[in-house]
Amino acid sequence: MSEARKVHIKSFGCQMNVYDARRMADTLARDGYSETASAEEADLIILNTCHIREKAVEKVYSELGRLREMKTESESEGRRQMIAVAGCVAQAEGKEIIRRAPSVRLVVGPQNIHRISELVARANAGEAVVDTDFAVEDKFEQLATPKPEVTRARGISAFVTVQEGCDKFCTFCVVPYTRGVEASRSAERILAEAENLVAQGVKEITLIGQNVNAYHGRGLDGRDWTLSKMIARLAEIPELLRIRYTTSHPRDMDDKLIEAHRDIEKLMPFLHLPVQSGSDRILGEMNRKHTRAEYFRIIERVRKARPDMAFSSDFIVGFPGETDRDFEDTLALVREVGYAQCFTFKYSPRPGTPAAEMDAQVPEDVKSERLYRLQELVERQQHEFNLSCVGKELDVLFEKPGRHEGQIVGRSPYLQPVPVMAAKSIIGSVARVRVNELRTYSLIGELVADTPATPAANSIPEVNAFA
Ligand code: SAM
Ligand code: SF4
Repeated sequence: MSEARKVHIKSFGCQMNVYDARRMADTLARDGYSETASAEEADLIILNTCHIREKAVEKVYSELGRLREMKTESESEGRRQMIAVAGCVAQAEGKEIIRRAPSVRLVVGPQNIHRISELVARANAGEAVVDTDFAVEDKFEQLATPKPEVTRARGISAFVTVQEGCDKFCTFCVVPYTRGVEASRSAERILAEAENLVAQGVKEITLIGQNVNAYHGRGLDGRDWTLSKMIARLAEIPELLRIRYTTSHPRDMDDKLIEAHRDIEKLMPFLHLPVQSGSDRILGEMNRKHTRAEYFRIIERVRKARPDMAFSSDFIVGFPGETDRDFEDTLALVREVGYAQCFTFKYSPRPGTPAAEMDAQVPEDVKSERLYRLQELVERQQHEFNLSCVGKELDVLFEKPGRHEGQIVGRSPYLQPVPVMAAKSIIGSVARVRVNELRTYSLIGELVADTPATPAANSIPEVNAFA
């Protein structure tokens, strides 16, 4: 029997990292590690890092500075703590991390996390371990599945990685270098993972991947399956109530996936579809492989397939060479689409990417001013979208007790938090809620009396304020 030890994993960045952190915890559980939310009491601390913007990297180094002090203090009390760095910074920086932060004893890239047990054992034996070679074996096959009680404790909504990596090579992005080429998991493995989660009470699965709609894994019939086919198969699991997927690329929004939004009720009417810029010239420089008009056309077709659809997106401001005119095109695109939510970023040059070498880098103050104007617009749209839900009835999947006595919080189809007064037994089911009020980002409502909580699929009225 392994000795009882504790691991604390702190994840930065995207959902892929949240998923990887869980799988590392599941795998380390075989060696006797249980998870702790406190870095102080952990024997092993793993920073699961993000390399997407410079700020994200700097955050990791300042966190490592704090951890070094904590480790020194623990050691003065006779305790041993090990610090490890995983994720995309580990992949990109490799042994440079140990040079800059010698308290780190283990650096492991995202493609190698299935070796975590062996790597920790080597580091515990005194070696400074760096493992960032792209593994040839299938990491998913070797990562442990979570124990039933762990899945139950994680709640009713889960992520399942269906593909990793990216071949698109947008000129600003490090993902193709840190996560490697695009690779899809087989339908058999995805189904097994999903069925295992559902057996433990999971009601909502979000399929994740850097380019999730480029999915082309081996299907149950031996042929490659697309994402829409995978979703259709998952929708046949009776106890699974909701399906989502993220992050999509506009180029891979094929006809079948658009039709899936029309035909599969369990597929939620909320789509994150990053566009990055509204200027065709900048989209070309970004190597996005689509135009502004093509993006509009996709939005229009998805809305036609599912009129209650809402959208979110990612935007980069201040990409090299972006003029005021280009930026105005971005604002105009946002106004025309009408988003429910957006993520907005200042362009951050990433070493090794083509855009970092481009002339005409935009000054920081111009980037800040553009970011401010864009954020103002998208926040106003988000507020308007949330307000448009007031007075409507929405199906809500209930997740957990709320902050107040007797309150249970769920999520709308658009991921808005919805707290209502209800019995605890409602957790894990979908019930209709009449929305009475918007409070910051939450929709405050009450259960609609004559519609009992049901594990049936979702069906909702039109709520898109911008359709
Ligand atoms: N695969 C997705 C796509 O096609 O858009 C998203 C990948 S990335 C993890 C998430 C977001 O980070 C991107 O959509 C982009 O807006 C932003 N991002 C990526 N590289 C960036 C950079 N160098 N500077 C600023 N933002 C960046
Ligand atoms: Fe990065 Fe572009 Fe690939 Fe998205 S599609 S992960 S932004 S290279």
